[in-house]
Amino acid sequence: MRSARSEALAAFHDISARMVGSLDLDETLGAIARAATDVLAADIGAIFLQDAEPGLVLRGVFGARSTAWRGLRLDADRGLNWTAFRTRRAARVDDCQSLVESDATLSSRQVIVEEPVRSAMAVPVPRRAALVGTIGVYRRFVEPFDEEDEFLLNLLSQQAGIALDNAFAYGELGATRDRLEALIETTDAIWRQSSFEEVAQRVVDDASRLLPNVACLVGVVPPDRPHQLVFVAGTPGWAAEQLGTVHDLRETRIANRVLIGGEPIESHSFSQASPLATSMTRGTAIDTARLIPLGEPLPDGRTRLGVLGYYRPGRRPFSDDERLVMDEFGKRVSIALHRAELLRLTESTKARLETAVEVAADLSESLDPSEVIRRVLVRAVEVGRADRGVLLRVDGEDTVVEDFHDLTDLEDIIGYRHPIALQPLMREAVTSRQAVIGGRYDVSKILSPLEGSLAAVRHTATIPLILDGEVTAVMVLSRREDSPFVASDLALFQLIGNQAVLALRNARLFAQAQAVTRAQSDFLNMAAHELRTPLSVIAGYVSMMEDGTLGEAPRHWKAPLETLRSKSAELETLISELLIASRLEAGTIPFQAGEMDLRDAAFAAIERVQPRASLLGARIVDRFPPEPVVVMADPDQVGRILDNLLNNALSYSSGPPRVTVTVHADEPRVEVRDRGRGVTAEQRERIFERFYRIDDPSLPHVPGTGLGLYISRQLASRMGGRLTLERTVRGKGSTFTLRLPPVL
Ligand code: ADP
Repeated sequence: MRSARSEALAAFHDISARMVGSLDLDETLGAIARAATDVLAADIGAIFLQDAEPGLVLRGVFGARSTAWRGLRLDADRGLNWTAFRTRRAARVDDCQSLVESDATLSSRQVIVEEPVRSAMAVPVPRRAALVGTIGVYRRFVEPFDEEDEFLLNLLSQQAGIALDNAFAYGELGATRDRLEALIETTDAIWRQSSFEEVAQRVVDDASRLLPNVACLVGVVPPDRPHQLVFVAGTPGWAAEQLGTVHDLRETRIANRVLIGGEPIESHSFSQASPLATSMTRGTAIDTARLIPLGEPLPDGRTRLGVLGYYRPGRRPFSDDERLVMDEFGKRVSIALHRAELLRLTESTKARLETAVEVAADLSESLDPSEVIRRVLVRAVEVGRADRGVLLRVDGEDTVVEDFHDLTDLEDIIGYRHPIALQPLMREAVTSRQAVIGGRYDVSKILSPLEGSLAAVRHTATIPLILDGEVTAVMVLSRREDSPFVASDLALFQLIGNQAVLALRNARLFAQAQAVTRAQSDFLNMAAHELRTPLSVIAGYVSMMEDGTLGEAPRHWKAPLETLRSKSAELETLISELLIASRLEAGTIPFQAGEMDLRDAAFAAIERVQPRASLLGARIVDRFPPEPVVVMADPDQVGRILDNLLNNALSYSSGPPRVTVTVHADEPRVEVRDRGRGVTAEQRERIFERFYRIDDPSLPHVPGTGLGLYISRQLASRMGGRLTLERTVRGKGSTFTLRLPPVL
């Protein structure tokens, strides 16, 4: 034994080098137990470390046989190791049996009896200025340790202290590295994952992994409910059960203080901190809690985005290291929350714009002002989750109800007049020109029977509708349930309001324009009829004078009579075009649509215009396909259109006109092409307007009304076809195309 010991002594440095060679804590502990056994020529070596609770716990053993060692925990105040720990010096026992005999409840009793161990020695293990545990060496026989052994074991223990220090430091380094990695990962996750809930859950998962026995909960203050706290992420068990629960901030004293003060608060009697804390921690031993504020105060009235809470059983303060990690996680969650808020904001702005576009599309579908108002109200009520929407016209100092949309059947309030000054909400909206959120209107100022239904209103949003800088109308949305309108709703209402104003203006302008058009066409109709009678009398007399019914006309009357006849013919055309135009507008032109061959129509039109063409020395070429080109149209009206196109082609030419009429079978159409004056790009569409004529003084005057192309295009479209000026080059010619619906 002794020789083995000197060998061991000789190898002391090797052993201790091995002992401090590893950086893994468990390996180091095992190496210490083994080195102690070897150096002290003992049978068993063990190392105990101080536990969180008073006492020592076995962390490494060498040479042991009995299972009694497993999980061995040495109570405080008793036994060999505890004595060494408490007195900070070596303690020796010659025969452990005496210990067992003197203390029947000794915690190492079973080891001593079962292993069995007889002679034993223990020394404290120092770590920096403090002690961390003890090393115990044991012999199976009574072979007491001496002072030299004590010296050696103390020496070893110093080395062990250093080895442990390294291993601990390394372990801490590892934990710090893990933490850093986790933090980096969470930060990454924050940018990868779009949902705040996912990130928050991830953070609490990481937090509970890095802070064992600590539960973690994330509560946020919803943007539309700044007085509430909603738990959105939590772990483990009891904390996870809190998910989705909503609380009034007044129930959560500590959280509320953290939100307002912006500083972390730690409580060691959390279960009594507030009614909410008591109910949350019921059934757990949780009493230690640290709550950290998330984010900065927000412009929408929220003091913070939320609170991050850490909880653990008992009343033990968190260590500085733990707090550091907690605060760090707090920062991460804040970033995630801010980002989620940004995303939400973008999403809601997108959604808002989409709604606005939808509303605009919906509103623009109607040009009837009262229908537009109706649609505005229906949309606003729907989008604003309101019960009722009322549109009031501003009329001087009063508002007058134009229309309303109500989800329940309330009394008719259209036409109700009320002074703006009597309603503070209305007055504010009209004078500030901004949407206003508020409670119900002042019922006492409102006449029966309205006060009944208004009394049920809980919340209102009043949106001024501004046109050309004036508040022309006001829209009031109301809710009967207790859910206030929030600032973020207003932007959308205002957007709808603006659309509404524009749609209304368009509708009103359109209605006015329609009224003017109607008056015009009434006038045209009347004028044409009134002109026609005297004209037919004039024409009648002219022809009687020409044919001698009224006696032989003097020779020199011949030229003036011819002029009279041609002028009355022009007038006749003018009157008949005026009549057709007014009938078109009144919708009283009869259409007799049927199947017809476009070639026949084109051929007949050329025939009709031929005498005039001959007079002008014009050439008309036709290009017809061999097979019929059947369309569904009224032959009289098609004839009228073609007459007009051919006459124009002959009229607006310089020199003898050359006209080509082509009928196409594919996509049935007639093309009338001339080599005449052409028109400019700017005139291209205008020539289809009523009374539009081009008066070019450098060209010979052509009599006309400016109604021909207008009437032709109207007729074409009434038959489901289209008349277009396909090509035109000033001075080179034009091609007009008449398309008509094919027979399917
Ligand atoms: P009107 O012929 O009675 O003036 P239209 O509506 O038929 O009325 O034509 C409007 C104007 O378009 C004409 O004044 C003329 O200047 C121009 N226009 C019509 N057809 C042609 C054409 N084939 N070539 C050049 N200009 C034309």
